[in-house]
Amino acid sequence: MQPHLISNDIEQFAEGENRAALDSHLANCAMCRARVASASRLSAALRAMPRAPIARDLLARVSATVETRGAQEQARRARTSFIAVAMLLSVLLVLWFALETAAALQDNSTLEYIEWISTHPELFASNFGDTLFALVEVTPISETLLTLFALFTVGVLAHQWIATMRAQTVMAEAGLE
Ligand SMILES: [Zn+2]
Repeated sequence: MQPHLISNDIEQFAEGENRAALDSHLANCAMCRARVASASRLSAALRAMPRAPIARDLLARVSATVETRGAQEQARRARTSFIAVAMLLSVLLVLWFALETAAALQDNSTLEYIEWISTHPELFASNFGDTLFALVEVTPISETLLTLFALFTVGVLAHQWIATMRAQTVMAEAGLE
């Protein structure tokens, strides 16, 4: 006796193909006859179903999904470019504010003042208020704060950029691109 029919054989039989080759097994095997019978009923039921509306709906849904993916990908690319440009501008701001800070330190002789105070600690102790006030005066606080803020912005943008690039890699690995 031949081996039992595999699902591909049953499909073929239900579609009316390759019958002669399968008939000899079916003649001797009630189990395969039953499987073929139920496959034939299913196939007939599927043929009886109104197909066109389902196919059209499915096609519309598939193309909508593809379009959405495409739009998402486009938005992601635009976002990546935007983040890269913003990051570059922030790096330029850091350089600019750092130069401003350096120039202000030079102009105010800040470092010399700090050095002078540290070599005369008794002056700092006896005139605590005045020396502290003078230190605040000569320190380029706004320039320093702006440099730190620009540096912080670069850090945030770099983090965003890496996250977006990583998302792209994950999508590429999942075969979604
Ligand atoms: Zn069989």
